[in-house]
Amino acid sequence: MKLTFLGAAREVTGSCLLFEAGSATFLVDCGMYQGRRALEDRNAESLHFDPRRLSFVILSHAHIDHSGLLPRLVREGFHGRVYTTRATIELLEVLLNDSAWLQQQEYVRAQRHGRRRPPPLYDADDVSRLLELCEPVRYGEALTPAPGIKAILHDAGHILGSASVELHIGNGRHPLAVVVSGDLGQPGRPILRDPAPPPAADLLICESTYGNRDHKPLDETLDELVDVVKDTLENRGGNVIIPAFAVGRTQELLYCFKSLAVEGRLRGLDVFVDSPMATAVTRITERHFELYDEEARRLAKIVPADGDGPRIQFLATAAESMTLNDRRGGAVIVAASGMCEGGRIRHHLRHHLPNARNTVMFTGFQAGGTLGRAIVDGATSVRIHGDEVPVRARVVTLGGFSAHADQTALLAWLGRLPRKPGRLCLVHGEEQAGEDFAAAIASRFGWQAERPLRGDSLELPG
Ligand SMILES: [Zn+2]
Repeated sequence: MKLTFLGAAREVTGSCLLFEAGSATFLVDCGMYQGRRALEDRNAESLHFDPRRLSFVILSHAHIDHSGLLPRLVREGFHGRVYTTRATIELLEVLLNDSAWLQQQEYVRAQRHGRRRPPPLYDADDVSRLLELCEPVRYGEALTPAPGIKAILHDAGHILGSASVELHIGNGRHPLAVVVSGDLGQPGRPILRDPAPPPAADLLICESTYGNRDHKPLDETLDELVDVVKDTLENRGGNVIIPAFAVGRTQELLYCFKSLAVEGRLRGLDVFVDSPMATAVTRITERHFELYDEEARRLAKIVPADGDGPRIQFLATAAESMTLNDRRGGAVIVAASGMCEGGRIRHHLRHHLPNARNTVMFTGFQAGGTLGRAIVDGATSVRIHGDEVPVRARVVTLGGFSAHADQTALLAWLGRLPRKPGRLCLVHGEEQAGEDFAAAIASRFGWQAERPLRGDSLELPG
């Protein structure tokens, strides 16, 4: 068995593992590179394998950095199956169509300004052809995607439908056990279950995004959320603007608003969700009650029925969105995108940043170079839609909502392995996070972790 690391090697995007085992060649994930321009240019590079000869793909979850190049495979002749959970397939339809649309927009904009930009990697037709190849798999169900290969998905607790992948490769009495963690969630987070413990592995591929730090506890974050919302709405008479990722974060916030209302800590809130994508993902999340943890089951629904929580309105059209411009206070507005790079959040920021009564509340990571990062870093004015907008609103960052396991949680997950892994490789983490995590693993367990580079291969009997 030969495994090649094609992405997310000493970096956090472009997840893609190529397995060559006997007659079967397959991938676990086929993600896009995101971030700096040079990184994104890699998405258009020629592939390191022939998609027409790929037997199948196993997809860990719907995030674009794990799934974003799948329609490109289809465009280039891939016709095998994509095995993943049903919730992931439903999210893929929303996320990949959005990705196709964004690529088209950027291409048109670049042409208008005479900039060179590669054409879109795929369109909506490629996305629908991909969706037809997707085959839903339940957690714990053993499938045989090719002779001599068994695969089982386990709940990774990262986003709705996310999975770790357990593979058994080989026909003999001792097939090779390979486990790919996928992105792992932080235990104790709202809505989703905690990550399932890892099965025994001859080779374990583990993520390391937050391998070098711990998150703030969620209950402290919720205390801060209550204080900020109350202070803004009751004392200052302003609005709270929350830039939020459409997948996961928006649903977590709605869930928290509801549970805080049930606890009597935040009553009578008017919450507006102003993102068609977040609305679609919330509907999908509400359909998958079977994936909720115990606590979320008790709360029953994320979007409250009348009378038992905040009044939540989902705004569909741009005209509905504009009506919020006249609202001078008392509203919580949740809008995408999470880093303020696009979407309706930009127009809410343009209206709300100049007034000191309002609060802009960040709940997620802000990458360097984004509008969100500039505001977090204390810019006194920012440029939005061609206008210079003064920043007078209060800016708050809540630290405890991460979708990724922190160092303590990652070590705890490894600690639940039934035995020492034969080999351990760290992926999906920046250089420093990976290096520090490898050191933490060595001091906790005495295991040597490898940190492969992009393009590295390893061979194992199996
Ligand atoms: Zn992810």
